[in-house]
Amino acid sequence: MSTTLEIVRIPVLSDNYVWLMREPKSGCVGVVDPAVAGPVLAEAEKRHWKITHILNTHHHGDHVGGNREIKAATGCTIVGPRADRARIPGIDVEVDDGDRYRFGEAEAEVFFVPGHTSGHIAFAFRDQRALFCGDTLFALGCGKMFEGTPQQFWTSLSRLRTLPDDMQVYCAHEYTQSNARFAVTVETDNQQLLARSASIDAARARGEATVPSLLGEEKATNPFLRVDIPSVQKAVGLPGADPIQVFAEVRHRKDVFR
Ligand code: ZN
Ligand code: FE
Repeated sequence: MSTTLEIVRIPVLSDNYVWLMREPKSGCVGVVDPAVAGPVLAEAEKRHWKITHILNTHHHGDHVGGNREIKAATGCTIVGPRADRARIPGIDVEVDDGDRYRFGEAEAEVFFVPGHTSGHIAFAFRDQRALFCGDTLFALGCGKMFEGTPQQFWTSLSRLRTLPDDMQVYCAHEYTQSNARFAVTVETDNQQLLARSASIDAARARGEATVPSLLGEEKATNPFLRVDIPSVQKAVGLPGADPIQVFAEVRHRKDVFR
């Protein structure tokens, strides 16, 4: 009954990842957050995959920049956040929190996850263990809080945290190494984080990507998913504080971290 997703990472611009995926039973081919069109069309062509869908998580140019050109070339359907319909070029299908979007024989659960932007959504393919979360959750980090409040952002992250540990987190940027450099300043005694940080350094030294990552690993090592944990609260001088306040503090520290 259940199907699979074949997922291909396309590195574009300086540090963006566009995700190209194919559901084999239907032949549906989706592109998540096409920053640009050229490399995406080339990769699909090389594989003889016909792009049928674009899934957008939010309106930023490095996520929707390729929308119109890919749609013009393929006639694909563009799916994006209802709250941001005016800012998603070429949007055809608006989705919102709790919606289930059928992609061939697979199905994405839509999470409304404001914080980085006010209309941000994530697509969770539960059966395929694939979470496309744009710039909300990164490997060892989270997006900058451009259009949201700490309360919104923490609510969004804590909802993504309820997904299973074996979900793969397909975020949209290769920021992991600099995120790790910050994370180890927050949780200096988290052995799993220290080990992960070392293996990230080694992977980057070999020129390898560090995305996707496992959600279970993020829960254990990503400070932004851990602001309700006493050791993290203590580490930023806020023992017993409201997680929203701790989130705001950790986000601020990251913003000014050099
Ligand atoms: Zn963004
Ligand atoms: Fe981005």
